[in-house]
Amino acid sequence: MNHRKRALALLLCALLLALLCACAPVADAAGTTAPVPAGPDTAAESDIPDAAPPEAGDDAGQPDAAAPEASDDAEAAFSILFLDVGQADSMLVTCGDAHMLVDGGNVEDSSLVYSALTARGIDYLDYVVCTHAHEDHVGGLPGALQAARAGVALAPVTEADNGPFTDFAEAVAAQGLSITVPAPDETFALGDAQVQVLGPRQDYDDPNDTSLVLRITYGETSFLLTGDMESGAERDLVDAGCDLSADLLKVGHHGSSSSTSYVFLNAVMPQYAVIQVGAGNDYGHPTEEVLSRLRDAGVTVYRTDLQGDILAVSDGQAVTVTTDRNAGIQTNPTETEGAEEAGYIGNRNSHVFHRPTCSSLPAEQNRVFFADRAAATAAGYTPCSRCLG
Ligand SMILES: [Zn+2]
Ligand SMILES: [Zn+2]
Repeated sequence: MNHRKRALALLLCALLLALLCACAPVADAAGTTAPVPAGPDTAAESDIPDAAPPEAGDDAGQPDAAAPEASDDAEAAFSILFLDVGQADSMLVTCGDAHMLVDGGNVEDSSLVYSALTARGIDYLDYVVCTHAHEDHVGGLPGALQAARAGVALAPVTEADNGPFTDFAEAVAAQGLSITVPAPDETFALGDAQVQVLGPRQDYDDPNDTSLVLRITYGETSFLLTGDMESGAERDLVDAGCDLSADLLKVGHHGSSSSTSYVFLNAVMPQYAVIQVGAGNDYGHPTEEVLSRLRDAGVTVYRTDLQGDILAVSDGQAVTVTTDRNAGIQTNPTETEGAEEAGYIGNRNSHVFHRPTCSSLPAEQNRVFFADRAAATAAGYTPCSRCLG
C-alpha cells in the first residue's frame, strides 16, 4: 500500500513536472518570437508582444491584426464627403468599412473621383448609386468603377438615351453586375447605417424627378440625399407620408428654384444643408429663392463652390460639418447683410474683389480672401461693379 501511494505520488509529481515543462515553452513562444528575447527589447516594441498573448497564443498574425481592430473603433463613425465636382454632384458615404458612392460628377470629374477613392485606399464600393441619368451625376461614375469593384449598382433606370449613362451601364456590366432599380421604401444596410429609398414614388417624364432619394440614418442622426428632384416629386414624397426629417439635407438640383419647396423643407427641417454647385455656373445656382427659403428655415448652409470639399461626420448622436476652406464665411447672406458679414473674394490678377455670391467670381486658383471690405481695399483691390457697385 505504502509503495503504491509513493509510486502514485511520484507519478503525480512527474506528471506535474511534465505539464510545467510543456507549458513553459508554449508561454515563451506565444509571448515573444524567438529572435526577440524579452530583455534587450526596446521599451516601445516590448509593449506590443506583451499585449498580444492574452488574446490568443496560437495565431502568429495576431500582433498585426491588433492594428485594424484599434482603427475599427475610429472608423465606426459615419461620414458623408461631398466632393467639390463643380456644377455636379458626388458624395462618398462611409460607415465603418462600408462605402457607398452617390453620383460621380461630370465625365471630366472621372479622374477626380478615381483619385478620391484610391487616395483613401477604397477598392470596394458596397453600393454605387446613379441618382438619375444626367451627365453631372452619372458622368464620373465610370472613373469610380475603374478604382473600385462594386457590390451593387443602383439607378432609377437600366438604360437611357445618353452617352454618359451608357458608359456607366457598360462599366457596371464590365464588373459582371447589372443595374438594380430599387423600389420605393426599400431599405439596405451600409455598415451600421440604414439607407431607405424614399423616391421616386411614381414614373416621371423629367429625368430630374426620377432621382433616387435616399434617407440615411445612423444612430439618432439622419441625412437626406435628393439628386435633382424638383418640387412635384418633393410634393409626392410629402403626400405619401414619408419620414423626410433629416439633420442634413443635400439640397436638390444644385439650389435651383424648382427644388427645395417650402412644403418639402418644412417636412425635412434640416439643421444643415449642403449645396453642390459650381462657381460662376451658367444657371445662376444656387438661386436667391432657395437661399432665402433656407434662411427662413434657419438652416446652416455649406457650399462646394465657396468651400470646396465638405465633410459631414456623425457619431450617432450629432452631426458636425467641416470644410476644405472658408469654414467661417457667410455662405447665405441676405442682400443687405452680405456687404457687412460676408467674406470677400478677390481676383489676384485683376485685383477686383467680389461678394462670395457674385456670378463672376474668379477661377479657384486666382482667388484671394478678405475678411472684410476694408481689408480688400487696404490690399489695393477695387470692388466689382456687378455685385458691389
Ligand atoms: Zn439632373
Ligand atoms: Zn444635376
